[in-house]
Amino acid sequence: MSKLWSPAVRELTPYVPGEQPRERLIKLNTNENPYPPAPGVEKVLREFSADHLRLYPDPTSMALRQTLAQTLGTSAENVFVGNGSDEVLALAFQAFFRQQKPLAIPDISYSFYPVYCRMYGIESRIHPLDEHWQVDLDALSADSGGVVFANPNAPTGLGHGREAIAALLDKVTDRVVLVDEAYVDFGGESAVPLVEHYPNLLVTGTFSKSRSLAGLRLGYAVGSPELIEGMVRVKDSFNSYPVDALASAIGIAALEDSDYFDATREAVMATRERARLRLTELGFKVLPSQTNFLLATHPEQDVAQLFVDLRERGILVRHFNTEALRDYLRITIGTDDEMDSLIEVLTELLP
Ligand code: PMP
Repeated sequence: MSKLWSPAVRELTPYVPGEQPRERLIKLNTNENPYPPAPGVEKVLREFSADHLRLYPDPTSMALRQTLAQTLGTSAENVFVGNGSDEVLALAFQAFFRQQKPLAIPDISYSFYPVYCRMYGIESRIHPLDEHWQVDLDALSADSGGVVFANPNAPTGLGHGREAIAALLDKVTDRVVLVDEAYVDFGGESAVPLVEHYPNLLVTGTFSKSRSLAGLRLGYAVGSPELIEGMVRVKDSFNSYPVDALASAIGIAALEDSDYFDATREAVMATRERARLRLTELGFKVLPSQTNFLLATHPEQDVAQLFVDLRERGILVRHFNTEALRDYLRITIGTDDEMDSLIEVLTELLP
């Protein structure tokens, strides 16, 4: 611990992402997409002229924002882009949640939210999930300095429909409600169409999951022009170029291939349902999922040991060492072959 660090940084326990192994493992631990990005992305990489990198990129990222707006059914003035949705979330926390009152956050949810709170000196009030392990939207509507939750939630995989979010927004009108839709394309219902009715709604999304571009770092937010301007103010104070020129070109190519997008996300969802059935047959209790992962527990097994045994046999899943999740494994949906290998190894491991 350095005395040269500011107090907020001394207190900080950074989010620890899942392992990125060098060896060849079946990697089902960080919710990446098992399929490559759309073929148009390869073409951009082959044809992109290095001379483009000599110049600064468009400071408004207009072409990417327009393509995103078209894809999402909104306007470019409602769209903000950044380097992964983690950065977009960080900017939103700074722009909207440094308030007198604490920010309302569910627990269990994405563990980055408390990290941002500590980083930016934001107090939070934690609201437990309801008895079905759903985000408790009623509880989140209590007086606060803002609301943030993931929908579908992570790492539970459960989501609320648009109507339920609209009902929350009917009650919460004077502060920002941030809905993190990192996983929405795998069976969730997006709140983006609500943006035109609720000026305090901010929806974030990512190219890391359903667009197979986790390595690129591209994320976005959709909201009223008022909210987008708030984000731009914070962003411009650090780096007035939202995303780099290559990321813009790749992002546009990924968005333009809607057939490939639908085929890959449908493949992931079909594999997810097959895997869920087979895990259930092995005695696991598996939560229903609207995401590209499953959260599973086994009433007779020590899942922490299973995690270690799976890793020894070349399969990496996620085990969170927290009170609420100690008995669960989070398993990213891979290809059918990868999931078959997982089931095969689990069948050997279980008595
Ligand atoms: N939100 C949630 C709920 C996530 O699980 C993740 C991925 N770990 C992110 C946001 C961030 O994704 P990215 O920064 O890759 O866009």
